Amino acid sequence: MLDITRLRNIWLNRNAFLAIISGCFLSSCTYSQNDAPMKSSSDLVPYGDKMLPKNVCQVIQDGGTERPFTGKYVYHKEKGTYCCIGCDAPLFASSTKYESGSGWPSFYDVISSGAVKEVKDLSHGMERVEIRCAKCDAHLGHVFEDGPKPTGLRYCLNSVALDFVAENSGTTEEATFGAGCFWCVETCFKELEGVVEVYPGYAGGKTMNPTYEQVCSGTTGHAEVARIVFNPQKISFDELLELFWWIHDPTQLNRQGNDVGTQYRSVVFYHSEAQKSTTEKYIEKLTKEKVWDNPVVTEVKEINNFYRAEQYHHDYFNLNPQNQYCQYVVKPKVEKFRKIFKEKLKYH
Ligand SMILES: [Zn+2]
Repeated sequence: MLDITRLRNIWLNRNAFLAIISGCFLSSCTYSQNDAPMKSSSDLVPYGDKMLPKNVCQVIQDGGTERPFTGKYVYHKEKGTYCCIGCDAPLFASSTKYESGSGWPSFYDVISSGAVKEVKDLSHGMERVEIRCAKCDAHLGHVFEDGPKPTGLRYCLNSVALDFVAENSGTTEEATFGAGCFWCVETCFKELEGVVEVYPGYAGGKTMNPTYEQVCSGTTGHAEVARIVFNPQKISFDELLELFWWIHDPTQLNRQGNDVGTQYRSVVFYHSEAQKSTTEKYIEKLTKEKVWDNPVVTEVKEINNFYRAEQYHHDYFNLNPQNQYCQYVVKPKVEKFRKIFKEKLKYH
């Protein structure tokens, strides 16, 4: 169901919002691969191939413990597999999860022998057995000998060390949006619960395998886009559209703030007829309700000619926080996004 109340409320403050994104004279193309990748932002830190929130790394890297009864998996009861947050290795099956009353997610067995390794832990004046991911060495929790049958073991986990994959979540869908500079679009969508992967890229143009510079020249016909792989059981296409319309100004023709050119056009590249009709209905509703003063110019086109962007564009904001465009344009937007969409984030 389409609910635009929230979007309208957000846009009532749009003047302040637009001031943030257009108040400076920076354009993303001005700052590209010449800026060497810098340290990560204060919110996310590198772990293996991933960027993970600091509080997660404090547990899995530094051996910390989350406060009891605060983790998101303490009372979690869905069928599926709990994997390592650091490397995605499967660790525990939901069928061995039980209510231990400890305040931490508890299991009486591992998913397969060798999935976790045990290390003697003499910290805090106790003798305990620490458990770590056998694949990436992430600290997970401890194992005690006071569990239920058949093993008599209690694997006591930190929720933040785990990522849950639901049993019937094998099917994913894709959505592709053009909403201005893809650094910002990728960063925000990637943080939503239910979004599996986001690929920055170029779509809807004529040139084969275009480079960023060619796309930025505005001559290839491509739009900068984010191609989103999502789990429709966790997040709907409607919800993705809500963020799409929040993240940019769909009434600006071929520009977003100081980023000017057809490569910055507002466009939904639909992957199915269902996506097409949902998008068109949403636009109709937004127009009828006059959410914006000017008409929505968002194009609705079938996905075509998608090319992934060069590797250095992936996770650009998190890897290049010192970049001026990131600091003055992307960062304020991302911070605002995290507040407004707080309850929909993977880590909140
Ligand atoms: Zn791991």
